[in-house]
Amino acid sequence: MPPTRRQFITAAAAFAVSHALLPPLGFGQAKKSTRLVLLGTKGGPRVGEAGRSNPATLIMINDVPYLVDCGYGTSKQLIAAGVALNLVRYVFITHHHSDHNLDFGPLLYNAWITGQPMRVDAYDPTGMNELARAFFKYQKFDIDVRIVDEGRTDPHGLVTAHDVTKPGVVMTNDDVKVSACLVRHPPIKQSYAYRFDAKDRSIVISGDTAYAPELAEFAKDADVLVHEVMYLPGIEALLQRLPNAKRLREHLMAAHTLPEEVGKIAAQARVKTLVLSHFVPGDDASITDEQWSAGVRKHFTGRVVVGRDLMEI
Ligand SMILES: [Zn+2]
Ligand SMILES: [Zn+2]
Repeated sequence: MPPTRRQFITAAAAFAVSHALLPPLGFGQAKKSTRLVLLGTKGGPRVGEAGRSNPATLIMINDVPYLVDCGYGTSKQLIAAGVALNLVRYVFITHHHSDHNLDFGPLLYNAWITGQPMRVDAYDPTGMNELARAFFKYQKFDIDVRIVDEGRTDPHGLVTAHDVTKPGVVMTNDDVKVSACLVRHPPIKQSYAYRFDAKDRSIVISGDTAYAPELAEFAKDADVLVHEVMYLPGIEALLQRLPNAKRLREHLMAAHTLPEEVGKIAAQARVKTLVLSHFVPGDDASITDEQWSAGVRKHFTGRVVVGRDLMEI
């Protein structure tokens, strides 16, 4: 059921108060450099026993957290990275595979339950409003109880969703311009890469994609390109254990990028640093950093970083 007018006004009032309490963005304080932290580097929705967490990437610009994707475990990874959950200000979802959005609702909830002021602008290829609404409905019992019993504010007004419906500039503020590029991730039609052009640094996050030359153009001369990667021998080993191997193999080959292809994109884009992330398979510890990067280096002579959770670049 949609919130009543009174609930809406209450939420709006709470929002106005909480927003007023936020520190001013990039105003009256020394500018901080732009930081990139990999929160979760494993591709796919399966929760592993150890090692890599599901996809999420943090960009800190002038001390404001911008989060790209919210795979399972994002709240914990943010805290491990030293970011208070209520301070997450912007969320960008590359596409709606669950390894990229599963913790969006829980992250909002976990931020709300801190009781501290929060305000989130979320950008995604349509569906974020629905996702937030559905999550709040899923937790309606708990939220309603806590509003009355603990005097909490209604969380519905704390998130504003923005649909990304086409490539181009998604948002701008005093610190950064964020642009989107449509990439190739069939059968999903709306899957985006995002580019963050801050004053001191440009960072591109590929999202999930097969080899996409248009991404090289989009990432042209960026300081850092974070690109997904899939290691074929590792996939073959994984598939041997699965009953849906044939279908899954077809999906992986059509929708993800091999190391050699990642190298080509980085070389064409002439980026300074290439960071490998969204590893598929992401929980096979026998695959060495050298194996992940060998194919890349056939084409790209710049700096290559084999990403790990909580690594800062
Ligand atoms: Zn993915
Ligand atoms: Zn995907």
